[in-house]
Amino acid sequence: MSTNQTVDLRSDTVTRPSPEMRAAMANAPVGDDVWGDDPSVKELESAVAHRAGKAAALFFPSGTQSNLAALMAHCERGDEYIVGQGAHTYRFEGGGAAVLGSIQPQPIEHDADGSLPLGKIRAAIKPIDPHFARTKLLALENTIGGTVLDPAYVEAAGALARSAGLAFHLDGARAWNAAVAGGLTIAEICRPFDSISLCFSKGLGAPVGSCLVGTPELIAKALRWRKVLGGGMRQSGILAAACLYALDHNIQSLAADHAMARRLAEGLHGIDGITVTQAATNMVMLHVDAPMLKPLASALQGANILAAVSPQMRLVLHRDIPQNGVERTLDVFSAVSRRAA
Ligand SMILES: *Cc1c(COP(=O)(O)O)cnc(C)c1O
Repeated sequence: MSTNQTVDLRSDTVTRPSPEMRAAMANAPVGDDVWGDDPSVKELESAVAHRAGKAAALFFPSGTQSNLAALMAHCERGDEYIVGQGAHTYRFEGGGAAVLGSIQPQPIEHDADGSLPLGKIRAAIKPIDPHFARTKLLALENTIGGTVLDPAYVEAAGALARSAGLAFHLDGARAWNAAVAGGLTIAEICRPFDSISLCFSKGLGAPVGSCLVGTPELIAKALRWRKVLGGGMRQSGILAAACLYALDHNIQSLAADHAMARRLAEGLHGIDGITVTQAATNMVMLHVDAPMLKPLASALQGANILAAVSPQMRLVLHRDIPQNGVERTLDVFSAVSRRAA
């Protein structure tokens, strides 16, 4: 292997299917899933439902669509969902709930640990009155910015949602990371929620694919919305096979991504001009002093390391980071810092 292999720290979505995963895809039995005929999709949906401890699951081409179908299954036109200001389902999904679902988001500020303060949630729930949108759903995200939500907090938020008659949704794009980091099963992470969206295309290394899990009634509604949103796929068993492969082989190894993130964060801690603001699961957030920004961008580029350089940076570790990737990254950061001093 070349010592100058690309180190892509932009996201864990850049992971590519391994040869073994590709072989599983090539050999997958398939059928027309819109007709309910694809055995690999069925196998994935039942495996994921079982693993998540829910009765039903539905395969989606993306997490954005899985989240949106969930919001549309829980809420009707004129309803609203309470969500974090920085949450993917509010900030990074093109306003889909409003655009396509006629559902109003009620964003609230996160605490530093990514949680939504219970008092703020309570204050955001609107009385039943023609002046107000009908508050129907509380949506959390775990992990959020790499941080694992405290299970006791999730429990309390769920109790609050239930007591107010709200449904409770989790954007669990990286819930697998939360489970591995916390030594919990995915079912334990999912248990407090009515619906959970789980992604295979992040650190698990599948090319595409997400599953929504929940009750059969909710999944039946989501199936209808998936069709409306253009997410009905035909021989999608080829994709489901990649996710099944990931489910069987790529979950426990997320611990290696977390270990790389810790090593990177520890190394960055000692570097002048860099402040690590957060490091959890597979992500490291840092502040870069202004004079270092330009030299850092060109040094990283010169070293074949991909990262979005900005005053507040995010570095993401994953299974396709080459062996010496963390050390090469630290070398570049230290060299730039020394030159700036
Ligand atoms: C990636 C991601 C999603 C879904 O993204 P897609 O690219 O549509 O699969 C949803 N939520 C979070 C937190 C994510 O990181």
